[in-house]
Amino acid sequence: MFLVASTNAAIGLTQAMTLLRDGASAIDAVEVAIRAVEANADDHSVGVGGYPNLLGEVELDAGLMQGHDLTSGSVAALKQYPQAISIARKVMERLPHVLLVGTGAARFAAEMGFEPSNLLTEPAREAWTKGLQPEMSVEDLEHIQERHDLWRWVEIATDPERTGGTTNVIARDIDGHLCVGVSTSGWAWKYPGRVGDSPLVGAGFYADDRYGAAACTGAGEMAIRAATAHSIVMYMKMGLPLMEAGTRAMADLNDLGGRYLAGMNFIAVDSHGNHAGFSTYEGAEYLYFEASMEEPVEVPRTHVPVKARWGSNVSCVGERVS
Ligand code: ASP
Repeated sequence: MFLVASTNAAIGLTQAMTLLRDGASAIDAVEVAIRAVEANADDHSVGVGGYPNLLGEVELDAGLMQGHDLTSGSVAALKQYPQAISIARKVMERLPHVLLVGTGAARFAAEMGFEPSNLLTEPAREAWTKGLQPEMSVEDLEHIQERHDLWRWVEIATDPERTGGTTNVIARDIDGHLCVGVSTSGWAWKYPGRVGDSPLVGAGFYADDRYGAAACTGAGEMAIRAATAHSIVMYMKMGLPLMEAGTRAMADLNDLGGRYLAGMNFIAVDSHGNHAGFSTYEGAEYLYFEASMEEPVEVPRTHVPVKARWGSNVSCVGERVS
């Protein structure tokens, strides 16, 4: 039994481990860990307190997948319901669907008995104002809802090197089953309705008990285009060891063209219980927590540099030019 997670999940891992030790399923552990991050208003990349989109509205993406039967559920661009991971789980358990978005996701949350609440905290609203003010005047911001040219602001405003964040949790339970979960408010100041990798099976997360599991944080559009989480697991299915599978999946990002390439991180485990983290940033870490341990330990991620390019700047991630 173990948990592997991004460092911002620390707040929920003790409770998740208690559940695993009591014989709970991997999905219960993942859900409880991520719920704690979603409820933490000091984390500005997930749930309550998450940074909003360009219009100042918080939109959440979340998804999970079970490794024993490849079942999965997700919500995207969900407003007003902080428990995105639990709603994603309900999508998986109650519907013949995998992904609900926007108003449909919120409607379903209400039907499932979740309580709506305001996700935009004062510090997040202030950060939104400050974050956009170099580009927009106070007057511009007051009338932002009426603008017909939001797209003009999005490139500068959503620079992922300045405004990203997500929580990732992988659990293996007493029966050896894997579950992976991801939750985020996405890139701060994103275009309304933008969906990242986090609610997309194969992009932001993937789990298959036979081979392993993986979850991403970073520039979601890259993980979507390279099907990164699935690639990691697929490389293990093809026989590559975990470290090579992760390094290959990271190297695949160098094949992506276009003007918008930025940083990537992922955590992964194989079917033997080996774990690893990878990052385009030097010095990045992830958390590992085994049932025999008292608390999680921080483990360095393997640094794999990839090309970065945002707008017209080209550099290696970790050495941004702008
Ligand atoms: N992957 C997230 C997204 O693209 C953001 C992040 O992890 O920084 O929405």
